[in-house]
Amino acid sequence: MGKLPMRARLATTLGGAAGTMSRLAGRGDGSVIGGVIGLRLEPDLLALLSAGRQVVLVTGTNGKTTTTRLITAALGALGQDIASNAFGANMEAGLAAALGKAPDAPLAVLEVDERYLPAVIKATNPRVVTLLNLSRDQMDRAAEIWLVARRWREALAGARDCCVVANADDPLITWAASGAEHVIWVAAGQRWQEDSWCCAVCGSHLLRDELGWRCGECSFRRPSTRWVLDGERVIDSAGRVSDLSLSLPGQANRSNAVVALAVAEVFGVVTAQALPRLRDVASVAGRYTRLVRRGRQVRLLLAKNPAGWLEAFDVLDPPPVPVLLAVNAQVPDGKDTSWLWDVDYRVLRGRRVFVSGERRLDLAVRLEADQVTFDLVGDVDEAVDQVEGASLDVIANYTAFQQIRVALGRAE
Ligand SMILES: [Zn+2]
Repeated sequence: MGKLPMRARLATTLGGAAGTMSRLAGRGDGSVIGGVIGLRLEPDLLALLSAGRQVVLVTGTNGKTTTTRLITAALGALGQDIASNAFGANMEAGLAAALGKAPDAPLAVLEVDERYLPAVIKATNPRVVTLLNLSRDQMDRAAEIWLVARRWREALAGARDCCVVANADDPLITWAASGAEHVIWVAAGQRWQEDSWCCAVCGSHLLRDELGWRCGECSFRRPSTRWVLDGERVIDSAGRVSDLSLSLPGQANRSNAVVALAVAEVFGVVTAQALPRLRDVASVAGRYTRLVRRGRQVRLLLAKNPAGWLEAFDVLDPPPVPVLLAVNAQVPDGKDTSWLWDVDYRVLRGRRVFVSGERRLDLAVRLEADQVTFDLVGDVDEAVDQVEGASLDVIANYTAFQQIRVALGRAE
């Protein structure tokens, strides 16, 4: 803290005080309000707070919060303090707050909103930028994610002494990363392919086979990878094969874990050291947690966009475990629920399905079109009361997830 200029120190102190007051007033964990005030007093706060640290940035449409947590866990092997925005406050104020709270941590692992990545690269001069995937979010359509990819590409091409760890199975990620000086390619898989049918270089159709993807018209193709997710196993940069055996469920989390292992190696933490630490992560910001409610186990899954819903379906407990789907359309969720039509719900047939949330009727119409039978419920307890077995899975979008978490008593 001593090396910060006076103005930044003042900004951090006042921001921290505001965060404390916000916490005391019961307005969330106070991390963002502190950063907002700090940045207003010192617009260069992020750059000043990042100076002298080794910074890892993590971005992508899905998996940011989990991957940030996994990288933090892996780098724990170094035995140094790590600053991190562990609860997903991922715009500039959230980042400033996370750094301000850990002024002496030599390492920082920060989740960054996709749109802020170029500005944050500039401000923090990162050691590693981690690119997971890029697909349509709640309100966006393809044109917008192509614009995001273009801005990433320009920012990464201009970044010095920065190592990019990128998912080579996502063509748009590959295109964005390939302008960078140094890239470590990871075969992390790509389940959602609806936003990457076209070549980012020439616009032709991409072809896919078991070796990956390539353009039918130009030389743009999947680069050869140093790290591979192979089912339940990872093949590391030295060709060693290890079972992942994570506590976190699903293909998407295995993919996040392989990316985290690749990032850890940049810092000299090898797979044998990192993997046991990844296995210890059982829940992330309330996700995947199993809570007991009225004698039944309730597990919470967050899904914010079409690709996220596919990932959530992948980790559902098998039938007859019922599922509650909860959808809101507040500002953080996106006001427009037309994305519901991008998801294929037919996998839910033959399972008891409950539907709640402010936009439950929109979801109900969508499920009817896919011939999925369901019951409308007012809240999570109404669903729990109707569960016949021992457990219930819940998939909710952002604010619906937070509401249910509060209703169930906010356990981590
Ligand atoms: Zn092409």
